[in-house]
Formats: sequence, structure tokens, C-alpha cells
Amino acid sequence: MQTYYMPVKVIKGRDCIAQNIGDLILGKRAAIITGKGSGIKSGALQQVKEVLDNNGTDYIVFDEIENNPSLEQVYDIGFKTAAADADFIIGIGGGSPLDAAKAVAVFAANGIELYDIFKGSYPVDPLSIVAIPTTAGTGSEVTPYSILTLHKEQTKRSFSSTKVFPKTAFLDAAFTQSLPFEVMAATAIDALSHCIEGYISNRASEISDYIALEGIRIIAGELKALKKGDLDFAARERLLFASMLAGIVISHTGTTIVHSMGYQLTYFKNIPHGKANALLLAEFLSFNSDAASDRVNKVLGLLGFNTPRDFNSYIISLLPNDIKLTEAEITEYVNISINAKNVAFNIKPVTYNDEVEILRRCFNNGI
Ligand code: NAP
Ligand code: ZN
Repeated sequence: MQTYYMPVKVIKGRDCIAQNIGDLILGKRAAIITGKGSGIKSGALQQVKEVLDNNGTDYIVFDEIENNPSLEQVYDIGFKTAAADADFIIGIGGGSPLDAAKAVAVFAANGIELYDIFKGSYPVDPLSIVAIPTTAGTGSEVTPYSILTLHKEQTKRSFSSTKVFPKTAFLDAAFTQSLPFEVMAATAIDALSHCIEGYISNRASEISDYIALEGIRIIAGELKALKKGDLDFAARERLLFASMLAGIVISHTGTTIVHSMGYQLTYFKNIPHGKANALLLAEFLSFNSDAASDRVNKVLGLLGFNTPRDFNSYIISLLPNDIKLTEAEITEYVNISINAKNVAFNIKPVTYNDEVEILRRCFNNGI
């Protein structure tokens, strides 16, 4: 049996916000959730404010979302959103503000305890969400997931609820033009990772495969331009589209060990999400190459590489691997990552020692 569910209205194209006001204004008072710089630098915050001002819609702006937002921060802003009587949410930014927007939508509608957000079902429906991505990577605008940092557990954990699918996603590639090179590169490989993990997953279906392969094909076509840092508007549109496709893929398949192991690199070494995944991706292909050789070869073929090693050379030329892990760190990370639920989605069963070996090969170099 296979199912396909994607309830987000996606509106894509230059200036799409101003041309679709009814899909932006979902209530009487908006809480705009964004990062310290992404809303302003992308130009999206200004566009949104103009539309709201011109239509007499009230709003409050929370523009301090941290990268990899913490459970405590979204809880606090959820409380403030409720206190401000906001009745819908506009998330603007990369995956961090978009994920924060989803959690805020839950907490604003429900006076629940911090950790109850991970239950995925809530007494009251979360506030409606509009998502405006300013990176082309996470696909959060079309997923039911929000990934939060848990300082107590020293990791990140996702919650999932169909109730936090945004109502509208506005994809305007103009908002990615201000992205620094490293963020553009890391986020593009994050989207690629979503497609690859969704394709090499025991939850893959005919529909998710179709979308994943198309996402890989599109991103493959931009790898050279990405490396040169030379992306014109059309290329940015293609990457934003591919990132959305990749979000649809993981909405159905989830991610696998690349993401669960990457979270520790982000938490302990402050490596951006996309880069953390990127550095693990070639080893992930090698690891699965005996159990799923057809799928691994299909991915490599679409990307234009003969072996995982060739692919890794490209990756580290784009995002240098400057991480070294001690054996003690590897043990600490695997003790956490092996418990993540997406480990079970890997097409080949994964053991504790498998994860240790993968980290050693990527980051140990005999320390
Ligand atoms: P991000 O953490 O949202 O942003 C990375 C950096 O880029 C931040 O410094 C941000 O600034 C800046 N930035 C964003 N857009 C910009 C723009 N247009 N111009 C200039 N700077 C800009 O990065 P991300 O990779 O998009 O998101 C990562 C998060 O998403 C992680 O927490 C990850 O776990 C999560 N994620 C979620 C899903 C999902 O399905 N929900 C899937 C994968 C990953 P500010 O600090 O000012 O915002
Ligand atoms: Zn990701």
C-alpha cells in the first residue's frame, strides 16, 4: 500500500507574495517568525510587511530565531504569540525560522508542557502557518516536521504532525539571492541528501522515488555552477524547486542515518545542518552499496560520479571537511544517534558499530 499526502498550497514565482494576498493573510493578526538577519537580508520581511500594512492587517514580529532553534526558545515565543492575540503565523527564513514557526503555532494554541510537543497530537489545532523559505535546502515549507534542539539531551529531535503542514508556501527565488556562498552550498546538499536518503530508504514508494529522482536530477544539473558560486536567477529557481521536491520526499519517507548522525556534528561541533549531512553522504552511499547497489548506482549515475569516493571529492571541494573526531567523541555521538527513530528507515539494517565505522572513516584519521 502506498499513500501520497501533500496539503500545502505552493505558490512559486517572482513576486508571488504580492500577487496572492489572500493566501498570505490567513487571519486578523499575524505573528511573523524570522531570524535575526534572514528576514531583512532576503527582502521577504519587507514584502510581507508591505502587504499586511496595505491591507490593514495587524502583526507582531519575532525576529530573534536562533539557528537550530531550541525547544525553550519556541516555547517562549509561543507564549508571547498567544499573549499578543495573534491568530496566524508567517514563518520567514531558512529551516530554522520555518521549524520554529511550526512549534510556535502549536504552543500558541495549546498551554502544554515543553516536551508534550513531541507527542504530535494536541488538544487544539495549531495556528495556521504561511511559510516563506529564504534558503533552498530544508523543504520545511512542505513538511509536517519541525526539528528542535534539546540541550538536556545534547541533540536535536523532530516532532511531526499533519496539523503543522503550512497552509501556503511562497517560493520566490529572489529571497535566496542574499545567501552567503557556504549557506547556499550547504543547503543545496541538504536538499540533495533528503532526496538520496528518501530514495535509499525502506519507506521509499513509487511516488517518492519519482520525486526523489527528479530532485536529484535537478540538483545534479547545478553542481558545477554551485561550486563556482555562479547561480543565476533561473538556477536559484531550480534549486528552490528541487528543495521543495526533496521536502515532499521526506514528508513521506523520513530521513535516515545521515540526518540522525549529522545532528551530533551540529550540536557538538556547530557544523551547519546541510554541511553535516554533506560530509556523511558519500559514506552513506558506500555503506548501502551492497544492500542496494541498483539504487546507489542510480544516484551516482544521475550525479555524474563513478564512485562514492569521486562524489566525496566534489563534496569536500565545495564544503571542506575540517572536522576531526576522537574515539571518545565518536562513542559519545553514536550513543545518541543510534537511538534516533530514522535509523530504522535505512534500507540496510544499521548497527552501533556501523555508525562508529562511518564516523571513523569520515572524521577520525587515526586520532
Ligand atoms: P538556517 O539555520 O535557517 O539558516 C542558516 C543561516 O543562513 C542563518 O545564519 C540565517 O540567518 C542565514 N540566512 C537564511 N536565509 C538567508 C538569506 N536569504 N540571506 C542571508 N542569510 C540567510 O539554515 P537551513 O539550513 O535553511 O535550516 C536548518 C534547520 O532546518 C536545522 O535546524 C535543520 O534541522 C532544519 N531542517 C528541517 C527540516 C524539516 O523538514 N522541517 C528538514 C531539514 C532540516 P538568520 O540567523 O538571520 O536566520
Ligand atoms: Zn536536512
